[in-house]
Amino acid sequence: MIDAPAPLRPEELQTLLDQLARDAPRCFGEGRVASYIPALAEVDPDQFGIAVCHADGQVQCAGDAQTRFSIQSISKVHALVMAMQRLAPEDIWSRVGREPSGQAFNSIVQLEVENGTPRNPFINAGALMVSDMLASRLVMPQHTLREQVRRLAATPTIDFDERVARSEMDHKARNAALAYLMQAYGNIQSDVELVLDTYFHNCALAMNCIELAKSFAFLANRGINPHDGTHVFSEVQTRQMNALLLTCGLYDAAGDFAWRVGLPGKSGVGGGIVAILPRRMSICVWSPRLDSYGNSIAGRHALEGLVSGLRFTPMG
Ligand code: GLN
Repeated sequence: MIDAPAPLRPEELQTLLDQLARDAPRCFGEGRVASYIPALAEVDPDQFGIAVCHADGQVQCAGDAQTRFSIQSISKVHALVMAMQRLAPEDIWSRVGREPSGQAFNSIVQLEVENGTPRNPFINAGALMVSDMLASRLVMPQHTLREQVRRLAATPTIDFDERVARSEMDHKARNAALAYLMQAYGNIQSDVELVLDTYFHNCALAMNCIELAKSFAFLANRGINPHDGTHVFSEVQTRQMNALLLTCGLYDAAGDFAWRVGLPGKSGVGGGIVAILPRRMSICVWSPRLDSYGNSIAGRHALEGLVSGLRFTPMG
């Protein structure tokens, strides 16, 4: 038996994070910021931040870790957490699957072939379905989600960027098509425009790397939020969420991300990627230039560097 190597000491990890932030500009020649949501196209593309939140709640960071950005699809995880806390498993998983889609995050092709049931909760159709589950049970679902995220990150100032939310609503055609198609199959219970408004507000939450890493720390701490000791998830739910993030969190690049990084993760078109090293730490990287799958190029690169420097991953 080979003993697992000791985790990095905090000062060693800090050196690694600083190095990753120094190396990040090498990726600034590639990729572009998301422009299909006009408000996102205004972000300075050449920024990079990284933050790690240890399972005990301690944070370490480097680069632009205090700059807030649009969390976009990363919010799909927070929304699913809220659904899993409130609904019986069969009421969720009879309406959305748990398999990787192998299609772009906003693809409509599969949805019709599969009778209006989304493959998983992290593609847009699946997140719209989860938004419907929340909208049919809560009066102001996006405000409940904002409260939840504020609590998880121990940061009461987290808020929506209303300009981004409006910009998404003004350019809603594709997401509206997904939602109305699901309604045509009888799979949406609330008013479709309300579902879209809920979803767009969730995506328009503005947070920085430190806040995002903190808000995901419970997934690295067996379901317990280390900042206030509350039980967010059971151990089983924590394992299930991490498994779903590993297989579906990066859309049609999930296999490549698992190959390169080997951690459960979730990306967003604002350039953020969150990753979980179970029982050790949650990580958030951010850099706005995206590859053709809608994932941050410098962010993924930094996660590869972090994992190879950590000496310990769930994959061996
Ligand atoms: N709000 C974005 C959309 O609906 C989220 C997509 C993403 O981050 N991948 O297209």
